[in-house]
Amino acid sequence: MDNLIKALTETFGPSGEEDEVRTLIKSLAKGKIDRVYEDALGNLYLEREGPAPKIMVSAHMDEIGVIITHIDDNGFIRIAPVGGMSAQALPGKRFRFRSGTIGTVYHEKLKNIKELDWTKIYLDIGQPDRKAAMKLVNIGDLACYDQSFRAMEGGRCISKAMDDRVGCAVMLETINRLPRELPQAVCFLFSVQEEVGLRGATTAAYRYEPDYGIAVDVTLVGDTPKAHTMEVSLGKGPAIKVKDRSVLCHPLVRKLMVDAAAKNNIPYQLEVLERGGTDAGAIHISREGVPSGAISIPCRYVHSPSEVVDSADLENAVLLLEKLLTQNWPKQERSY
Ligand SMILES: [Zn+2]
Repeated sequence: MDNLIKALTETFGPSGEEDEVRTLIKSLAKGKIDRVYEDALGNLYLEREGPAPKIMVSAHMDEIGVIITHIDDNGFIRIAPVGGMSAQALPGKRFRFRSGTIGTVYHEKLKNIKELDWTKIYLDIGQPDRKAAMKLVNIGDLACYDQSFRAMEGGRCISKAMDDRVGCAVMLETINRLPRELPQAVCFLFSVQEEVGLRGATTAAYRYEPDYGIAVDVTLVGDTPKAHTMEVSLGKGPAIKVKDRSVLCHPLVRKLMVDAAAKNNIPYQLEVLERGGTDAGAIHISREGVPSGAISIPCRYVHSPSEVVDSADLENAVLLLEKLLTQNWPKQERSY
């Protein structure tokens, strides 16, 4: 899967400008799906036909980034975050615009490093003045981290935008492995604007009207030095979400996941994430409510340019999703 993850993570796609990722995913899924369509916000739907019930599986295409708010007379650029990004982590980090223009972040003179916030940092794209800079970029342009994918010794890999291109990779790989006939209909949603508030999944769930929702996204881990206490570790299997700030996962969906993992000897962990949310947060409160859960990929240093995941966790996430989608899900009783 390394090549797939390299291609997906290195593609430019901050929230609201996911089109290059969407084009890539469409080309990768060609011929393997019954119906492909997009909506007005840019969500990409890859549908596999089947009888009721309908399951929506969602991974988001967008990554966090920065947006230009101001360009000064000397060509230095002021920026603001699009998605969860801390100014303190940015000095020395490189960013890339859609056009290929790159720059590095640095900060004004500070008395104390604690003063570092978004008002003190700037982006330097190497231009002598505002006029020259404006030939390359404009107010409102988006940039994302400029960092390439690398495989590490021993099966782990490191890149920007693992959040959530690894979720996209897990869905694409699952699509490859599914049999011709499925016991129920499945819509693989590649959503937009998750990082700014689960916006794409909100409208997509309304449109598809699923009976069940499953998000495939990254989660934080508690296995690094003096980390926030958390059960999930890298390399111990995909995490079956119990709760995050956007969703309390439906007990039935959680049970189906746990049972499928146990029955097929797939290692798994239970995830209680105290910060952050995912597309399941939007899907489960769509229309009259949609029982939803999530398969999470353990990931270190989430939202940094060097997010680290374990290949075995990805492989086991694909296996779990494949087993889940090829088993019979209970029909939903609806009383109108
Ligand atoms: Zn995410």
